[in-house]
Amino acid sequence: MYHSIQVPLRTSADATPQGSSVPACALGEVQSAVPVSRNLALRLITCPDGDLPSLLAAARAAKERFKPGVITYSRKVFIPLTNLCRDYCGYCTFRRDPGDPGAHTMTPDEVLSVARAGEKLGCTEALFSLGDKPELLFPEMRQSLRRLGYKSTLHYLEAMCEVILRETRLLPHPNPGLLSAEWISRLAAVSPSMGLMLETTNADLLGPGRAHDNAPDKVPAKRLRTIEQAGKQGVPFTTGLLIGIGESSPDRVDTLLAIRDLHERYGHIQEVIVQNFRVKPTIPMAHWPEPPHGEMLRTVAVARLLLPNVNIQAPPNLSAPYYDDLMDAGINDWGGISPLTPDFINPERPWPHLEQLRLRTEAKGFQLQQRLPVYPEFIPAVLSKPGLLAEKLRNCTAEDGLARRAA
Ligand code: SF4
Repeated sequence: MYHSIQVPLRTSADATPQGSSVPACALGEVQSAVPVSRNLALRLITCPDGDLPSLLAAARAAKERFKPGVITYSRKVFIPLTNLCRDYCGYCTFRRDPGDPGAHTMTPDEVLSVARAGEKLGCTEALFSLGDKPELLFPEMRQSLRRLGYKSTLHYLEAMCEVILRETRLLPHPNPGLLSAEWISRLAAVSPSMGLMLETTNADLLGPGRAHDNAPDKVPAKRLRTIEQAGKQGVPFTTGLLIGIGESSPDRVDTLLAIRDLHERYGHIQEVIVQNFRVKPTIPMAHWPEPPHGEMLRTVAVARLLLPNVNIQAPPNLSAPYYDDLMDAGINDWGGISPLTPDFINPERPWPHLEQLRLRTEAKGFQLQQRLPVYPEFIPAVLSKPGLLAEKLRNCTAEDGLARRAA
């Protein structure tokens, strides 16, 4: 049963000194492309509105040095393998308890039928999103898994990734929550990339009445450990931060720095997603304020400047109708866009029609191009390991490392 999370009188983001002007010399430091320090990032992320255009210009220029002229997206189907989850995040509308209306674990036939429908529409990614280890909390999930013939949700996920690889032209990208070293290795054998949102490094959000109260898998140290394990195994990894859930602007910088630190050590972070909290009537945080658009733009811009050579993504549906601005802030990717399945995580926010997205991307001076779930720069490493995965990946990769057009 959800408890309601009360709106704070002041969010912790308010505690950040806003309006401390970014001196022209600070933006000069950025322009000279030195690695941006924590101190500079803190000043940039809280810059006053008057300095925002200069910050955005610096971020867009950094994006153009990294991936000029192009914004990518992944044409995907969303496969919510199970929406049962043992965590209760205050902002989540996806999760269900057994017996709740809409609670569902997909059958293998359902998985294949969604993937095949996506294949007909030119999709190249099967994004598996699912609750974290529901069988640890719910006997009903243990029964479902037994009926399906699997010991755990991860065993079932592994089998479904393999089915997608064997029977369709899609490539799986699993997002199953915390993973051990062994499970990273097993899933990496059946998917070219995987993901786990770090969300935030602020462990205070696990406290009573906060967003991660009763969400044992959202302990930042555990999430960092999973991302680090993936790095040790050289697995192309998608992660990111969730803004507006009670963290402060310095927390956002520290979360980005934690990701940068892992990427500097292992070089495996293929993409950083900056996702903004959107309120929904049925969640415990139903009365929580959404982060203003300006905070989203500042966070994306600082992400770009802290990680100038990493793909930065922001989902357009969560910033509609103003999502074009995200291109000014330095993103180079729109994430997964489905021509078929709704965004099950944010069902009230439909993805923009692909043609709309193309027109709006071009209006900003960029070409919209379809990528695979694994980014071009990480493909050679996946191809170097012989087997079914490399064979399937080779078949769907064009010469430039993006998605090969269906014949
Ligand atoms: S956000 Fe993820 S981990 Fe949290 S409750 Fe929802 S499905 Fe579970």
